[in-house]
Amino acid sequence: MTLFDLTGKVALVTGSTKGIGEAIVHRFAEHGAKVVVSSRKEDICQKVASEINEKWGKGEEVALPVPCNISHKEELEKLVATTNDKWGRIDTLVCNAAVNPYFGPSKDIPDSAFNKIMEVNVRSNFWLSNMVLPQMVERKDGTVIIVSSIGGFRGSPILGAYGISKAADFQLARNIAVEYGPDNVRANAIAPGLIKTDFARALWEDENILKRTTANAPLRRIGLPDEIAGTAVYLASAAGAFMTGQAIVVDGGVTIAGG
Ligand code: NAP
Repeated sequence: MTLFDLTGKVALVTGSTKGIGEAIVHRFAEHGAKVVVSSRKEDICQKVASEINEKWGKGEEVALPVPCNISHKEELEKLVATTNDKWGRIDTLVCNAAVNPYFGPSKDIPDSAFNKIMEVNVRSNFWLSNMVLPQMVERKDGTVIIVSSIGGFRGSPILGAYGISKAADFQLARNIAVEYGPDNVRANAIAPGLIKTDFARALWEDENILKRTTANAPLRRIGLPDEIAGTAVYLASAAGAFMTGQAIVVDGGVTIAGG
């Protein structure tokens, strides 16, 4: 394994105790990286980190649990500082955690929900990237991966503000790519389709929505968290060395299918 090897790399993944983030930290560790497992709940961070150490550590500590609510700047600063203290560097930053507190027509969304979506899904990713990018510039190496969504490519009657935030995440990746490319720092977004996680439970548990989503999907099904992790490994490894500023759609073909 060389092209996808992550040996010697340190990866920080927000929201990595469940769903897509958890799949990413597992696959990163499997490919040789040291990982930071993070979410708002300390005990769950510890549980997932222990599972990774046991499964992939070969007797060494390869997963560090660091609780962090990405809404708070000082918690993000602590997350970065704790990672640097422990592992000495961050080679790959995965901005994965996001929220969606509102389903419904855009005109009815409370200001508080709109603000929350923009703050967590966009501003926190912006803050965190800015905290990590300087050390990548210093080493002339690093990669930022933002887990966005196909919702950022399409209009929606019920997920309007969420889609706006995810479109902004594509732009964040493009801006980082342009600003930091000359220092050999890459940034890309992943745009998953519907994935079977707690986050999207309201969508895939609703039989009508599930039927609508999968009826014209070429693969006729929704995705699993682990089916997103490979794209993150690709982007973090030598295999993705010439890929920057892109949004990679991983959606079972939903967005290319005709009605
Ligand atoms: P998930 O299974 O619900 O996992 C979300 C993770 O983020 C958990 O570890 C959660 O832990 C953490 N988290 C939530 N709010 C946080 C906060 N404020 N600060 C820190 N951590 C926080 O969700 P998922 O489906 O894997 O979603 C991951 C990413 O994929 C999101 O960016 C989402 O927009 C995107 N996405 C998902 C789908 C889908 O269909 N599932 C489709 C397209 C894109 P705690 O709650 O314990 O903090």
